[in-house]
Amino acid sequence: MSRIISIPELCSVSQWKFKAEGNANIILAYVGEDEKFLRTVLRLRKSVCNHTEVVKDKDANDDVEKEAKSTQLFASLYATDVIKPLLGEYVGESLLVEVQPKFLKEIADSIHSLRSTKRLRKNIDFTQRYAILTSDHTRFSSSSNPSLSIELKPKWIFLPTSPHISPENTQKLRTCRFCMHQHYKRLNKIDKDPSVVTGYCPLDFFSLVDERLRRSIDELFKVPSNVLKLFMQGEQLQIEKYYMAQQSELSDPTIEEWKVVVDGYKRRIKDPKASVENVDSAQIRQRIYEFLISTTLKDCSIILTFKKKAKDEVTDLSGALFSPEISKDLSIAFPAQSTKNICSKGSNKNIEISNHTKNLKASCDQNGTHEVLLDYKIYVIDLDPKYISNIPHYYELDSEIVKSYVKNCKVKRTCME
Ligand SMILES: [Zn+2]
Repeated sequence: MSRIISIPELCSVSQWKFKAEGNANIILAYVGEDEKFLRTVLRLRKSVCNHTEVVKDKDANDDVEKEAKSTQLFASLYATDVIKPLLGEYVGESLLVEVQPKFLKEIADSIHSLRSTKRLRKNIDFTQRYAILTSDHTRFSSSSNPSLSIELKPKWIFLPTSPHISPENTQKLRTCRFCMHQHYKRLNKIDKDPSVVTGYCPLDFFSLVDERLRRSIDELFKVPSNVLKLFMQGEQLQIEKYYMAQQSELSDPTIEEWKVVVDGYKRRIKDPKASVENVDSAQIRQRIYEFLISTTLKDCSIILTFKKKAKDEVTDLSGALFSPEISKDLSIAFPAQSTKNICSKGSNKNIEISNHTKNLKASCDQNGTHEVLLDYKIYVIDLDPKYISNIPHYYELDSEIVKSYVKNCKVKRTCME
């Protein structure tokens, strides 16, 4: 259940500084002096994106209902009560902080010059009543050693296998949605620089094949776009510098209804055969809601944060607002002479994961190694709910992406799973 707090001192521009920005949210880092709020971030929703205006001319009740489900309160409950049962410990705690339009406008003015120009199309939503306060997952509670944090948007990591894909869309079986969407954006000049071509494919990144993984990391560093962000001690690094048919019967679920969908999904994946045999309208509805959850997960980000382990570290967390992070050990052995260049090409590291200890060990094939013991933690963020009214837009965009790829892309890519 979400907790709501009202702390007037937090609603002051001097307590916050601009930290990062995505398509839907602006993140501020706490810089005030209250120990309780150290290493926390405030997430402010941005104004609604353009395509949702399509639903405006529907009747007023729809708008009221959509408004109720697009609040930060709903977003916070969706993350904790719907997505957390799916992802478990990787979803952190959050609090809702009451905010006023005056504070939001002052923040918007104070951060304007720090924002990327390509993001200025959308401003902070001045009508939001709550902002979401969470731990800053790019930092550790103890600051004994500097931390490095990697924020990655995995996107959808599969090729569809559904037998219902129509003959004109069979390209979907070979090229992943991300690769086709990149091509679509370039062609329609949606990206700032249409000449930029990313060779990154999420299927390579998560393939567990060393060569494909390395290639995708190289590609990510060339064109990080919004897929990759790096933070050193919580400060973002600029990487570039360095290199439906049923729609009318459906409504957006309440949190309680979303929970039923998650339970249904968990039952279904335990017994996949049963669900294929008996597809009634309730099951179709279930699949549509599952699709919406998967669109949330497509847009989520994973934050991995590391620091060198300190000896006999004791951190006083007695006054802390959130429970201490779940951090784990990682021991990496580097060749003694090349500790500077961890990602250097040609070093052949074999990584073994021991489920019992949850320690990750890497060994090198050269003799003479230097072992570094690290703390690491992993959290998932950006878990906003998606809405039924957006499904026609998703559907249209998907068809456009496939059509455009089939028609215009001369050398078609084969993405592998
Ligand atoms: Zn791909």
